[in-house]
Amino acid sequence: MLSSPALTPPAGIRLPRPTWRPATAVWLLSLWLAVAGNLPLWLRVNELAGTPTQRLALLGGFGLVVLGITAALLSLLAWPRVFRPVATALVLVSAFNTHFMLQYGAVIDPTMLANVVQTDVREVRDLMSWALPLTVLLVAGLPLWVIWRRPLAMRSWLPQTGRNALGALVGVVAVVAATLLTYQDLASLMRNHKELRYMVNPVNTVYAASRLAVDQLPRQVQALKPVGEDARLGASYSGQSKPPLLMVVVGETARAQNFGLNGYARNTTPALARWQAEEGLVNFSQVHSCGTNTKVSVPCMFSPLTRTQGGDQTPEHENLLDVLQRAGLAVLWIDNQAGCKGVCARVPNASTLDLKLPGLCDGGECLDPAMLDGLDARIAALDPVRRARGVVLVMHQMGSHGPAYSHRSSAERKPFMPECTSNTLSDCPPEQLVNAYDNSIAYTDHFLDLSLRWLKEREQSGAFQTGLIYMSDHGESLGESGLYLHGVPYALAPEQQTHVPMVAWLSPGLQQRSGVGEKCLRAQADKPISHDHLFHSVLGLMDVQTQAHDQTLDMLAPCAAAYARAGEAPRRPAS
Ligand SMILES: [Zn+2]
Repeated sequence: MLSSPALTPPAGIRLPRPTWRPATAVWLLSLWLAVAGNLPLWLRVNELAGTPTQRLALLGGFGLVVLGITAALLSLLAWPRVFRPVATALVLVSAFNTHFMLQYGAVIDPTMLANVVQTDVREVRDLMSWALPLTVLLVAGLPLWVIWRRPLAMRSWLPQTGRNALGALVGVVAVVAATLLTYQDLASLMRNHKELRYMVNPVNTVYAASRLAVDQLPRQVQALKPVGEDARLGASYSGQSKPPLLMVVVGETARAQNFGLNGYARNTTPALARWQAEEGLVNFSQVHSCGTNTKVSVPCMFSPLTRTQGGDQTPEHENLLDVLQRAGLAVLWIDNQAGCKGVCARVPNASTLDLKLPGLCDGGECLDPAMLDGLDARIAALDPVRRARGVVLVMHQMGSHGPAYSHRSSAERKPFMPECTSNTLSDCPPEQLVNAYDNSIAYTDHFLDLSLRWLKEREQSGAFQTGLIYMSDHGESLGESGLYLHGVPYALAPEQQTHVPMVAWLSPGLQQRSGVGEKCLRAQADKPISHDHLFHSVLGLMDVQTQAHDQTLDMLAPCAAAYARAGEAPRRPAS
């Protein structure tokens, strides 16, 4: 196996460095990765197995499959200059994956990997904990030390190609044999627990990275397909005395279940409840997200395509903001998050990153009310001709972004104590974790209260006719079924990750102008709605006329239609 010298060489003579035979290195490393690099997978399989015989069959059969796949992959890369960097990367990937799977119940699929690639310093810092370096050391330490102590033996390339191909073949034979021997148990396990296929390290990451590369490379050179080229402003704009101003709040990681207005046992939304009782705010209780992570959901919310039409894929089309801008309105995106995921690329946008507001922006990030700071000046700086027609403002919240939920509310606004302050969520007692999360929801309630007050003041001062739509991008798991955070592939995602809160408020002026009255809005409150509806509902509410506007996906269309039937012009210039 090892060609190491047995005796100490005489002084002055250099012996060749000890080396690994490539096949030995491949199979030893594969065995290590299959066992130590896949602990979360084996723990899960062990949980799912029924009888001891089944457990043996599943762990043995599945284990051999993982070993075979890994060895086949590594065999193809068993070249002296290639093996060490590639093996190092795969070992590290397995170690990092192991940490996030154990800590958060995460699985690795293409969208999860895309999130990782697009993350920022703030998010990385939130995910850091002492357990990460420890897991990486335990899983990656020994194999990295061995790999870097001895290089692979050099051979001429032709015989090595043959050996590598043979090694890959042996790996494939092992996979086929193991599958055939334990087919019944293995097949039913994989059918019933599709998440397991995203848990095989490091093959999951290799697969996800290849998918991402294939999906994204050709599209980057393609221009976006235009949407709503015929977009123009409707009759309500002619002779208007006050322009409309709609604020669209894109929520972050808020789940419907913990929203007071949806009947949660805790009153996490006291301010919104007051707006609901006194000011005509409407809560929508049956809203579902397009994706289970920001990167999928945010572009999908603004996409002209529904989720099933491909709104959850990398956008090939322009979005809602492009259409609003084309119609002649002023659009502004304000971001208190890790960016707008391309949605605001062609409209004016601003970030809170540079703000230094005492009490709101500490430790390099801001609480959501920072987005309201200097907002009048930001609006005043928009194109005056467009602004005089109307404004659509998007506020992209930090919301309940985890795992550092305790950072999402200010010290004086924490109604639920004690709260979890650790990033290692499974270390906290479950009730403290829920407290920290509920505090973040209560803080969103506070932020929406401030936003609504801001809008009401602009209405009363005569500057605008105002309205607000709040919709969260996806939900969150708080330890249910061992899952934390979000990002589970949509088909497998639990309700907590897809059922999201949504509210809407229209000032009397905007109600009159759009024909969407409070009573009719309330009648829509319990209808099933999804991110698919945002694009069309905003076009309808803002009276933007275009072929791209689909009435059947405009949740406010029944109101405008009823208003028209009542004998009044549906869109009249507001006085
Ligand atoms: Zn998100």
